[in-house]
Amino acid sequence: MVARLARLHPPMECVRLHDPKYGLDGVIAIHSAALGPGAGGCRLWSYADRDAALADAVRLAEGMSYKNALAGLPLGGAKAVLRRPSGDFDRAALFQAFGRAVEELGGRYVTAEDVGTSVADMQEVATMTRHVAGLPSIEGRAGGDPSPWTARGVFESMQAAVAFALGRDLSGLTVAVQGTGNVGADLCRRLADAGAQLIVADPNPARRDRLAHILGARVVHVDDIAGVEADIFAPCALGGALDQDNVGRLKAKLVCGAANNQLASPEIAALLVQRGITYAPDYVVNAGGIISVSAEYLGENESDVAARVAEIAPRVTAILERAACEKMSPAVVADEMAEHVIAGAQRAAA
Ligand code: NAD
Repeated sequence: MVARLARLHPPMECVRLHDPKYGLDGVIAIHSAALGPGAGGCRLWSYADRDAALADAVRLAEGMSYKNALAGLPLGGAKAVLRRPSGDFDRAALFQAFGRAVEELGGRYVTAEDVGTSVADMQEVATMTRHVAGLPSIEGRAGGDPSPWTARGVFESMQAAVAFALGRDLSGLTVAVQGTGNVGADLCRRLADAGAQLIVADPNPARRDRLAHILGARVVHVDDIAGVEADIFAPCALGGALDQDNVGRLKAKLVCGAANNQLASPEIAALLVQRGITYAPDYVVNAGGIISVSAEYLGENESDVAARVAEIAPRVTAILERAACEKMSPAVVADEMAEHVIAGAQRAAA
C-alpha cells in the first residue's frame, strides 16, 4: 500500500499463473499466513507487463494482511492479479482456469471479487474450488454484495471521527463525496439521513445525477471535489485521492472514505498531520467488505458480520486517540497496531 510508512515484510509466496490456452496470465501473492489463510480479491486489469502485475499483487497482498489483521479476522493477506487478455476472450474458461490454480494451493489462498471481476466470475471459480467467497448470498447466511457493509463501516467511522475531531455529530456538516458507485451512493444516503449536506462528483453522470436529485446534493467536477468548501472529504472512488498537488487545497478538517490507498504517497499522511486534518485510515474504515466476504467463507451468518462491523468505529476512535496522544499520523498508528497483531500470531505459532 502506498500510504504506509512502516511496511516491512516481503511476500512469503508468489505463484505465477500461466495457462495460455485459457488466456490465464497473472500471479497470486500470499503476503502473510500468520493469522490464517491468505485472503484477498482477484483483480483483472490491463498491465503493461508481468513485472507491473507482480508489483501490484505484492502491494495489494501486503495491504490485505494489514486490513485483515486489524479487522480481527482469522485471515492472512493475499491477492490475485490477472492480466486482462487483449481482444475477445472466453471469460468463463479464464476464471475456471484461475479456479483450478486456487484449488492447487489447497486453501492457502482464498479469493473473491476485486476491481474488474464480478460475482459471475467467482461463480465460475467456485466450479473448481471451494476457496472462494463473494458468491450470491443464501438466506440468513453471510454473503452477497459486501458494499452495504463497507458503507456502514465508513459511515459509523465518520460519526466516530467527527465526534473525536470536531466534538459534534454529522447533522449540518458538509461532506464532499468523491465517487457515487456502490459504496459512495450508499454512504450518501446514510449521510443525508443523518442531516449532512452533500457535494458529490463522479465522471459517470447516470448514478451521480439521479442520486444528487434524490438527496439534494450539489454536483461538482471530479477535478474540484477534493478542494471544495466542506467539513469532510470522503474518497469513495479510486486510489490516490490525495496527492502532492491537491492536499494543499483540501479545506475539509477530516478525511474518511471507502477507497483503498487514499494517500498517493507516504508523505501525504505527514502533510495532513501538519495541516491539522484528521485522517481515518482507509483500510480500517473500509473493512466491512472483507468482514462480510470472510464471514461467507467461514460459514458465519449476518449477525457475525454486524458484530464485527460494529467494532470498526470504536477502533477508529482508539487509533485517533493514540495518534493525537503520540503526535503521529493515524496511518502509522494503524500500521503499527496491525503489525503487532501479526507479530503476536507469528510468536504464538513459533
Ligand atoms: P464502484 O466501481 O461501484 O464505484 C466507484 C465510482 O467511482 C464509480 O461510480 C466511478 O465512476 C467513480 N469514479 C472513478 N473515478 C472518479 C473520480 N476521479 N472522481 C470521482 N469519481 C470517480 O466501486 P465501489 O465498490 O463503490 O468501491 C469504491 C472504492 O471503495 C474503491 O476504491 C474500492 O476499492 C473501495 N472498497 C470497496 C469495497 C466494497 O465493498 N465495494 C470494500 C472496500 C473498499
